[in-house]
Amino acid sequence: MTTIDPPVEAQPFQAEVSELLNLMVHSVYSETDIFLRELISNASDACDKLRYEAIANPALIGDGQLPKIRIFPDKNANTLTIADTGIGMDRQELIDNLGTIARSGTKSFVSRLKEAKDGIGLIGQFGVGFYSAFMVAERIVVTSRRAGSDEAWTWSSEGGSGFEIAPAGKDDAQAPERGTRIVLRLKKDAAKYLEAYEIERIVRAYSDNIQFPIELVDDKGESKQINSASALWQRPKSELKPEDYKEAYKSIAGAFDEPAMTLHYRAEGRYSYAVLLFAPSTKPFDLFDPARKGKVKLYVRRVFITDDADLLPAYLRFIRGVIDSEDLPLNLSREMLQNNPQLVQIRKAVTGRIVSELETLADKQPEEFTKVWDAFGSVIKEGIYEDFERREKLLALSRFTTTSGEKRTLKQYVADLKPNQTEIYLLAGDSIERLKSNPKLESATARGIEVLLLTDPVDAFWTSARFDFDGKPLKSLSQGDVDFSLIPLLDDSKKDEGKPAADEANIIAAIKLHLGDRVADVRASQRLTASASCLVAGSHGPDRELERLLAQQNRGVDTKPILEINLRHPLVAAIPQAGENAADLSFLLLEQAQILDGELPEDPAAFANRLNRLVVGGFSKG
Ligand code: ADP
Ligand code: MG
Repeated sequence: MTTIDPPVEAQPFQAEVSELLNLMVHSVYSETDIFLRELISNASDACDKLRYEAIANPALIGDGQLPKIRIFPDKNANTLTIADTGIGMDRQELIDNLGTIARSGTKSFVSRLKEAKDGIGLIGQFGVGFYSAFMVAERIVVTSRRAGSDEAWTWSSEGGSGFEIAPAGKDDAQAPERGTRIVLRLKKDAAKYLEAYEIERIVRAYSDNIQFPIELVDDKGESKQINSASALWQRPKSELKPEDYKEAYKSIAGAFDEPAMTLHYRAEGRYSYAVLLFAPSTKPFDLFDPARKGKVKLYVRRVFITDDADLLPAYLRFIRGVIDSEDLPLNLSREMLQNNPQLVQIRKAVTGRIVSELETLADKQPEEFTKVWDAFGSVIKEGIYEDFERREKLLALSRFTTTSGEKRTLKQYVADLKPNQTEIYLLAGDSIERLKSNPKLESATARGIEVLLLTDPVDAFWTSARFDFDGKPLKSLSQGDVDFSLIPLLDDSKKDEGKPAADEANIIAAIKLHLGDRVADVRASQRLTASASCLVAGSHGPDRELERLLAQQNRGVDTKPILEINLRHPLVAAIPQAGENAADLSFLLLEQAQILDGELPEDPAAFANRLNRLVVGGFSKG
């Protein structure tokens, strides 16, 4: 023991950490096993980092031994210790890494946890790193020495509102020579984690593919390795069973679900590299977090380099796994990574391979493909406008909910075109339910024309680029002109129902006069059969839905919509005789069209007044 008490400093947790810990401590979540996987995964990351830093600075490894991870259960002391000889943390790193949540994705996850009723289930689905240890421990003491440093520091906490940080005494038995030692004083109901077979079971299930040896040390100090510590992706496919891949997925991706697609191959030729990639079957919580980085890890000859290199295009950011190059230099700096021509080649080749693998999956295992599409379709569709080279393929892979009520491919859509139909019709909006009742569908519905109903934000973007599929242009029903005149009505007797108002020119002129520059134009509609009016975008600007999205992001361009009116509708036909009510009627046509698109009228109070005037006027006449 040191004679002078070392200065102990108390520090508060960042608010999000306290919230998270509070959830952990009070959780009734039963699958607490994940804490061990999280701690081992951190230890493995630390070993990876050491190996990487040692490329430039071999003295850091010193003894030259491969770093490793050791687990010490101690039944007498009721503690479980996880120690690694990795990179370690200095004082500031302990404070930053174990007192805050750096990843913005995790931050938003924590706020979601608080709201969600099944929040605790979500913990199990995603893991929350180091802090998950508080599910099983009432007190945690972390002692760490950064590689190359002569100082070691101790961080300790009982969850709650903060932690303490103090220098580890020189002769502190817990201070490692290098790396991190985490001592968990287990809660009463977590004593099973002191049993060797429990530890082995969890390591086998979740951490078998950790590349560094994991040793279990018994009370006599004897240790045995309990993982295989091999780079699975380097092994021949023929040796591996589906179970091996599932386990590899869980430990490499830190995932809990099953992979919906597995891609394992070795590229030989100008460049050699091994690829082991997975598509998850469930959606991670941070898929749309701009800070989310690609989760494919780059290795060079089995040494982990980074998980920060853009190894895949953004629209494949859900893919997890490893690419291990044989020819890249080990001492790659981040700048070199960005423009490395070899990496550019690898990215291109692997991207092509993933897309064709998705095609095969859709073909051979449609249920598995459906999982991928349901979870990640909204991301894959970004590729339709970002990856010019593979647009056709990505369009063909896409599945769309249509007015048929089913999810369909464009190929199926095109096979079922109506006579004289030459375009693929679509309508984008917030929800399928709202779209289904949108008046812009009326005329198409009367002809049995199928329409794609698109509800992902990304849809507004790629559809605005106006592509063809199989020679058929994609056309939004909320934009430009539509001409259904050559496509027969399902029920031909409906054709002459409701005579169009005779004085079309007068009606349009009157509405234009009243609405002034609120609309770009007023015209007779081909889209409507029952409703009185709808709003569409001009044929050259963005689609109505895209305009709305851009406006939400304050990137709106102030374009005016076109008001289309249904000359068969009594409200419209009444305008010439409406006298002083004509202005109210004109605005009502505009405002109800806005409401049907899910928008608010510009001046809701004026809208209500107008409506009331008209209704009261109607009553007093009758
Ligand atoms: P994540 O691993 O996703 O970053 P964690 O909560 O698991 O989140 O860990 C937070 C950070 O703490 C890690 O990123 C790492 O910097 C640091 N850390 C945790 N455990 C160790 C360890 N055994 N050795 C070195 N650093 C560690
Ligand atoms: Mg972690």
